[in-house]
Amino acid sequence: MNAWERISVVQGNIVKLPVDVIVNAANNTLLGGGGVDGAIHRAAGLKLVAECALLGGCKTGQAKITKGYNLPAKHVIHTVGPVWHGGNRDEAELLASCYRTSLQLCVEHGLKTIAFPAISCGVYGYPIEEAVPIAVRTTLEFLVEHELPEWVQFCCFDKDLFEEYQKVVATLKE
Ligand code: ADP
Repeated sequence: MNAWERISVVQGNIVKLPVDVIVNAANNTLLGGGGVDGAIHRAAGLKLVAECALLGGCKTGQAKITKGYNLPAKHVIHTVGPVWHGGNRDEAELLASCYRTSLQLCVEHGLKTIAFPAISCGVYGYPIEEAVPIAVRTTLEFLVEHELPEWVQFCCFDKDLFEEYQKVVATLKE
């Protein structure tokens, strides 16, 4: 299947998605936070933070996997996006690395379906018009080279983000 046919943009709450794995935009401690991190921990239950506490944190641009506990998703990949400092502190490479390392974990664990939030686009302040093309391009490049994951969803919490993803996908597809 063409790599383009393996990506979708959806609007909604990532904690509701019945996929093999959802990605959490976590912080370096992996012990929970606000935004999508808080929503995932609330929905997964306390066993998630207990497992995360055993992981020893996570470096920016890297990712670690846990079970999904009470979530419909079987697993959670916790990745730590870069804080936006204006663009000269390797933010683009670190953000791309979050997508690549998360997708690589799908290969290693045999996971077919994954959903990403817009990593770094909330409290970490990454401008969406810069972050969305990185998310889409990095994912497509990975899919061209790998059979897993079979299907990637970009889950947008709000309409502006949803429209930005649709615009970027349409533009890159041309
Ligand atoms: P970061 O600290 O990496 O910026 P945030 O959680 O603050 O992470 O925001 C990342 C993105 O996740 C933002 O676009 C935010 O709107 C979105 N988001 C927040 N809650 C959810 C949710 N329940 N499902 C999907 N996306 C969410």
